[in-house]
Amino acid sequence: MTAGTEYWIRNFVNGGFVEPDEARGFAAVDPATGRVFARVHEADSALVDRAVMSARQAFDGSWGRTPVRDRVALLRRVADRIEARLEEFVAAEVADTGKPVTQARELDVARAVENFRVFADVVAATGQESFITDLPEGRQALNYAVRKPLGVVAVITPWNLPLLLLSWKVAPALACGNAVVVKPSDQTPSTAVLLAEALTEAGLPPGAYNVVHGFGSGSAGGYLTRHPGIDGVTFTGSSATGSHVMSTVAPRVRPVSFELGGKNAAIVFEDADLHEALTGLTKSIFTNTGQVCLCTERVYVQRSVFGDIADGLVGRARALHLSHPADARTTTGPLISQAHRTKVLGYFDQAEKAGADVLVGGGVPELGAELGGGSWVEPTLWTGLTNADAPVREEIFGPVAALIPFDSEEEAVGLANDTEYGLAASVWTNDLRRGHRVAQRMNVGMSWVNAWYLRDLRSPFGGTGLSGIGREGGGSSVHFYTEPTNVCVQL
Ligand code: NAD
Repeated sequence: MTAGTEYWIRNFVNGGFVEPDEARGFAAVDPATGRVFARVHEADSALVDRAVMSARQAFDGSWGRTPVRDRVALLRRVADRIEARLEEFVAAEVADTGKPVTQARELDVARAVENFRVFADVVAATGQESFITDLPEGRQALNYAVRKPLGVVAVITPWNLPLLLLSWKVAPALACGNAVVVKPSDQTPSTAVLLAEALTEAGLPPGAYNVVHGFGSGSAGGYLTRHPGIDGVTFTGSSATGSHVMSTVAPRVRPVSFELGGKNAAIVFEDADLHEALTGLTKSIFTNTGQVCLCTERVYVQRSVFGDIADGLVGRARALHLSHPADARTTTGPLISQAHRTKVLGYFDQAEKAGADVLVGGGVPELGAELGGGSWVEPTLWTGLTNADAPVREEIFGPVAALIPFDSEEEAVGLANDTEYGLAASVWTNDLRRGHRVAQRMNVGMSWVNAWYLRDLRSPFGGTGLSGIGREGGGSSVHFYTEPTNVCVQL
């Protein structure tokens, strides 16, 4: 993937790659070095139209009529194909994102494999709802709901965990019998294309999976969400874009599933296992350079242990290894782009102007000539800010958190819930009752006790408020990607 600049990342429509149009190429940039490593073919509206039409034909034709057992068998073969080509997927993900190779291998690609296996299991085990209704004079009615696929689903994904998030949607959508048109982020187009190959090798019929590359409103994303042939939209990305996509889809009243931004809190009580809390907080603040929707950007710490937590986190932030993604020792890669770095550095400035004490970081690291053109920032921790300050209210999406003291449980709950977002929270305590009590009071879709990002893929995933609409995962995904028809039979 890192060979010369003539390498093209192509669109995939109706089972085949589309010859790139030289006039519609944009650069694929390695965020670790700033170098262009490929050109991406931006789909025009005619190509998006072809992709939607071919998805419709696949849905109306063979794929929509494929029995469940064959669909789930195919999903399992896809998982095997990704595993067989693991290092290609890893290399593609690293080239696009600059993330450490170990993370790409152990988190991103491993989860993609798991997504295909878990949703094969979930869909194979999903039954239909039925009710016996008692009627007058001893008669009865049988109600049963037949779940049918939506049809053609638009899948729009961001750049932070490209393959993981794409497969999280594509696997259940296909398992439920839908055909999909996916629009990966313009910044991370590569693994969606490799997935097209894996799906084809596994035997997916032409048109059931299509990839169109490009940007938002005036490009492939906008063409796709406005397209009248789309039966549903599943979107992961920022809250602002989600809101825009919702208004685009609204006139045709199609189902939407939105996994959006977060401003996630952690609460550390004085009775927590501080070592375990520090390990968990370090992961939750700095994993993927803070570019996970679930990452913690607000840490509320009970005053008696505030110093211990602050010192412990500073030590762990200093121990992070920022270096070339291919280096197995690297823990922390660059941000996705120079534009995103400008945004994150803007919050660094705002925090200092608001009176933050910068415990560690706060700038751009010196990493030498090879990585000098990359979009790196230092892992950063602040104290001295309050919930009134923009860096504590707005999603930054970088390796940064504000530490804020609290005195009582009630105060901690109030501070953590004082946000328009509602994605995730983590509570650190050894008091069993308090753990359950506080975790349940978090106004979020996912609340952890003494853990972070511990996922069972059968459990519901999603957020409230600005963090999204609906849930995916396990049966929630089946509910989104299917529509019930209730049949009532008078017996
Ligand atoms: P983004 O909203 O800028 O882009 C997401 C996708 O939408 C991209 O493919 C983009 O090209 C496309 N897009 C942009 N404008 C569009 C439009 N008008 N119509 C159709 N498509 C459009 O988000 P991003 O910067 O790529 O990703 C980071 C954001 O994603 C963060 O806010 C993060 O919290 C969020 N995120 C949420 C979750 C979750 O599960 N809740 C997971 C990962 C990332």
